[in-house]
Amino acid sequence: MAQDIDTSPRGILSRIFGFPDFRGLQQQAVDQVMAGQDCLVLMPTGGGKSVCYQVPALSRPGTGLVISPLIALMDDQVAALRQLGVNAGALHSEQEADDAMRVRSDLAAGRLDILYVSPERLLSPGMLERLSRLTLSVIAIDEAHCISAWGHEFRPEYRALASLPQHFPGVPRIALTATADPRTQSDILEALAMPDATVLKASFHRPNLDVAVSPKTSEMRQLVSILDRHKGEAGIVYCGSRNKTERIAKSLCDRGYVALAFHAGLSPVEKRAVLMRFRSGEAVVIVATIAFGMGIDRPDVRTVIHLDMPASPEGYYQQIGRAGRDGETAETVLLYGGDDIARARYWLEQSNAPEAQRRIMSGRLEAMIALAETTGCRTEALLACFGERLDQPCGHCDNCRNPAVTFDGTVAAQKVLSAIYRTGQRFGAVHVASVLRGKTSDMAGRHGHDRLSVFGIGKDRPEVFWRGVIRQLIARGAIRVSGEYNALSLDQARARPILRGEEVVSLREDATDDLRAAGGERR
Ligand code: ADP
Ligand code: ZN
Repeated sequence: MAQDIDTSPRGILSRIFGFPDFRGLQQQAVDQVMAGQDCLVLMPTGGGKSVCYQVPALSRPGTGLVISPLIALMDDQVAALRQLGVNAGALHSEQEADDAMRVRSDLAAGRLDILYVSPERLLSPGMLERLSRLTLSVIAIDEAHCISAWGHEFRPEYRALASLPQHFPGVPRIALTATADPRTQSDILEALAMPDATVLKASFHRPNLDVAVSPKTSEMRQLVSILDRHKGEAGIVYCGSRNKTERIAKSLCDRGYVALAFHAGLSPVEKRAVLMRFRSGEAVVIVATIAFGMGIDRPDVRTVIHLDMPASPEGYYQQIGRAGRDGETAETVLLYGGDDIARARYWLEQSNAPEAQRRIMSGRLEAMIALAETTGCRTEALLACFGERLDQPCGHCDNCRNPAVTFDGTVAAQKVLSAIYRTGQRFGAVHVASVLRGKTSDMAGRHGHDRLSVFGIGKDRPEVFWRGVIRQLIARGAIRVSGEYNALSLDQARARPILRGEEVVSLREDATDDLRAAGGERR
């Protein structure tokens, strides 16, 4: 009877998984493993990475070993496979003893088709020896970017995976990740000691994601107006701190939304409760830090909103990628301001990270800032961070739909820089803008700012205009922000050429929310 069963990869794909065809690069990845070759698969979240190792694991003789850092995800995968009739099991630290016992005995008897294991368990005493007595069909290293010390999800245990070929000579290895920047890619190949691996990189373009970036003017109002376009749908709101997730979730609840905070400070029970509701299909808004991350795979998230700027384009891409996994249109909006930029730069300066690492983090941060300020196609700029080129602008980002209006902002920039200089480089953006507008206030009176030549030289433009100019000058590095009160000061080297009129400053006219709403009607 066994002879009648089609154990070719395609046979497994249709018989067990019920898919008529491989998708994208799956076929190539499977072919590599079937031929006993190593490979690295770079595919966006939702791209179908699991099939790349699950199919060869079942098609080749022996047990497939899958190394994954995410316990919750592991359990989900095992449960899904068991439903399909595959004898899968997991070994990790949060498991019932009798479950672990069943897995171990099936494993020893060669009955297990696929074993998921956390890196800690894999490296625990005796485990590698026990495994090396078995036949392994394939070794899959999931979330392989965790091996990169420069990445935002570095797991030191992953480093030890370099020794796998010594323990399991001849077993093909397949590393998988949704992080696509060239640096991480070369790190993975090097750290896993697989220089000859074939690299299979899918396009990271997600045409169903509408990407938009807006200056923060009134955070809560902007947030609510976006969420109002998604009534009865699921959404994720990312914040930069735990406190803020709680505060925003509460404000949303007060306004009648079903909103739940999620961050690393919650107890395991609280976390599980939030995840359960999120996964249940309920129309819920999760207000989270980046702790709400890997392994979040609800398909129908219709919006992802950032209330603070992510630290890198990689993080940003992963987070917005949690929207629209079902392929239907989803809206992503990043709200950011000059304070975000200043704060992120400040934390980097303060960090104890080694110099080389700080340089890379700083490069990523500056790439993120440039992405937020770009007047060109956002999708194009984002994909360029991953070494991918689009043939033409995406047509569905904010800048494609409402081409940015730029203007010669040299004089405006000079006015701002002068106002900062004349007021003593001790005041924040709000005060500087109000001096430019010529608004009398206690503060202006007390410091004699209402008698300065710069007082009121910006009366002709509204406050938001000046805030926009200040933000863009911060982004360009001409204005620095420091101290508890976010005091603005000049960066001599960058500000001087502007003040002397030696440098033309091209600025973008910030789109107002009304404009955006009008452009929000899709295609
Ligand atoms: P990733 O791990 O890359 O985020 P998954 O492996 O979870 O992606 O797959 C994402 C979705 O795509 C799953 O719902 C899966 O069932 C589906 N899928 C994967 N491969 C195929 C295929 N060849 N045909 C149809 N659907 C597929
Ligand atoms: Zn575009």
